[in-house]
Amino acid sequence: MKIQFLGAAETTSGACYLVTSHGRQVLVDCGLFHGPQELKQRNYGDFPFEPSGIDAVILTHAHIDHSGLLPKLVKQGFKGPIYATAVTADLCSIMLADSGHIQETEVERKNRKRLRRGQEPLVPIYTVDDADRTMKQFRRMVYDEEVEILPAFRLRFRDAGHILGAATIELWVGDEKRSKLVFSGDLGNMGQPIVQDPTFITEADVLVIESTYGTRIHEDREGRLEHLAEVVKATMQRGGNLLIPAFALGRTQDLLYSLGVLQDDGLIPPLNVYIDSPLATKATEVFQKHAGFFDYETRTMIQAGRSPFESPHVHYTESVQESMRLNSVSGGLVIISASGMADAGRIKHHLKHNLWRKSATVLLVGYQAEGTLGRRLQDGAKKVRIHGEEVRVEAAIETISGFSAHADQRALLNWLRRFRHIGRVFVTHGEKESCHGFAKIIHEELKVPVVVPKMDESFDLKGAEGISTWDSYYRSCHVHDAFAGVVQVTRDASIEYRAVYGLADRRYKVDNTFFTLFNLGSARDFFAKLALARLMDSGRLDQDRPVKWDADIVWEEELRRLVPDQEPWDIVTEEVLRPVQLGQSAYHFLDQRPALAATGYTRIKTGETVDNVYAILAEGLKPQLFSTAHDLRRLWGVLARGDYLPPKVMQTLLASYQHSKIPGFYTVEGKAPGAHVIFGADLQDLWTITVLSNGEEAVQSAFDQLVDCSQGR
Ligand SMILES: [Zn+2]
Ligand SMILES: [Zn+2]
Repeated sequence: MKIQFLGAAETTSGACYLVTSHGRQVLVDCGLFHGPQELKQRNYGDFPFEPSGIDAVILTHAHIDHSGLLPKLVKQGFKGPIYATAVTADLCSIMLADSGHIQETEVERKNRKRLRRGQEPLVPIYTVDDADRTMKQFRRMVYDEEVEILPAFRLRFRDAGHILGAATIELWVGDEKRSKLVFSGDLGNMGQPIVQDPTFITEADVLVIESTYGTRIHEDREGRLEHLAEVVKATMQRGGNLLIPAFALGRTQDLLYSLGVLQDDGLIPPLNVYIDSPLATKATEVFQKHAGFFDYETRTMIQAGRSPFESPHVHYTESVQESMRLNSVSGGLVIISASGMADAGRIKHHLKHNLWRKSATVLLVGYQAEGTLGRRLQDGAKKVRIHGEEVRVEAAIETISGFSAHADQRALLNWLRRFRHIGRVFVTHGEKESCHGFAKIIHEELKVPVVVPKMDESFDLKGAEGISTWDSYYRSCHVHDAFAGVVQVTRDASIEYRAVYGLADRRYKVDNTFFTLFNLGSARDFFAKLALARLMDSGRLDQDRPVKWDADIVWEEELRRLVPDQEPWDIVTEEVLRPVQLGQSAYHFLDQRPALAATGYTRIKTGETVDNVYAILAEGLKPQLFSTAHDLRRLWGVLARGDYLPPKVMQTLLASYQHSKIPGFYTVEGKAPGAHVIFGADLQDLWTITVLSNGEEAVQSAFDQLVDCSQGR
């Protein structure tokens, strides 16, 4: 059995774990990435596996960082069932459509600019239609019932107490000797409003646990309610409005509940609360439809006719006009509106109309990420820009922590201590410090083996044991200190090893990432040959004598000679980059490189640091071809399929690239000042090895070692 961590590894978003066993592939969650650009890049392009090869998806809950890439999975060929609780399925039908709508509008906005500049239009990751189509593949599950979803795979959902419908997953794999995998999903706190408490699990051979708050403790619930009451009273006494930016799903409903409780207890005066977020309104409707899943307190409240979601004082605005009408009210309202970090959505309008009022209060109840409007307010900005207008900040800015739907360290440990048997723990879904800090605590407390998996890392699981396939096979690989770049080994559809080293830009200390663009140097010629072969094969280029593919000439020049009215790089773009869908690859002039391109390198022998912008003189005024490990693997995959060029043509073209020692393995090498790349593949097994470097050292040795390690498997 194998488990691969394709998201939420040393970060909180993009949860996605691939379990392979008994010839089946099961995906747990398929979430959208957010945060820094290099993570968001993963939302685009291909999955690191073949979507049509996945047999089933198990979804823990509806939050977008767990469900947000499901429509892309379906769009790219996944046809199997998606198992989720009924609440999660209903919530997904609104969340995914909303997410599709956001993708569409964002791309529309970007395309208006691109078209004006004469650039190719972008395609959204997925659309509302894709999201709707995805819903047909949902299979509704109930909590606590064990179901065989595939031969040798049995599944049970348990309540995770995080948001309504959220589940912890128990997955038994195997026939006679079964191994039990447990995925905590996002875990809630004990006594959290509305939802039930998390179910305790007692056994796991392999446990994958979240660690969002693995190193932190929340403000306690009583203190939190008191604090909320104070903020409400103070604002109402000043005659102002109280604005609360909040996530539509979970946080909004918690706030409604808390305000309801405070009102019932007479701790705050009766209020007019406005939910001004269409998504929050719809989510609240789903909550009410599934009231049977509420915790005891909430059910009793509703039975006594005191529903926190429906009262004469709670208003759901529908139209934009209704929302705008709130702008003219100077005081006495509580407005709960998305987004939670105030960087999008209707909350921005309300902030614009209230921030300048001394009587108003902005209450921040969730995490405010760096760079968001919420964070600037939290940091005490005196002026902010909203919709291009400068707004003075006179309102009181308050923060209450602990309105989180995530278990804090205490609650996580409390949940862990109920286990009677744990074989091995993988800590995921937390920022780097949180994952590693919490892993250390688990190890000290429970004395079990704990691993923080890296992105894309995969593990062979033998019963309770988990051996990183990377570690075991590639432990002997010592990439030289001088090496800067990316290495990658893939076999079939999966990544066998991947690592990134050094800096993309020495002057500004920018790290290399898997999305860094590397100059392919003279390997450009390989692409020129592909373009030429394609033109000839399709009969668009009459060539009377056979081409000598092994001739030692500059193939871009040959292309120019044969097609004089078009630049060779434009031909390659049209004949190779576009049809093969190498979305990250493109020609760039060296003085016009995009931000993601690697630049600097060091000449080891002399120790001098050089920026390869100086290569302009050496390379003339030709644009250079830049690409990524992702795209190069894709290229081999398409060439292997045999529909891009007939296999016969491919064979003659590739003959001169035959690796000297491994039969059937082809390698392409490229060099330029400050760049050295080697990428190769066995098209039969689709075994690929890629080494891309923005230096000139240690590339050959890295490649040779990867060949050795990979062959030793
Ligand atoms: Zn969540
Ligand atoms: Zn999450």
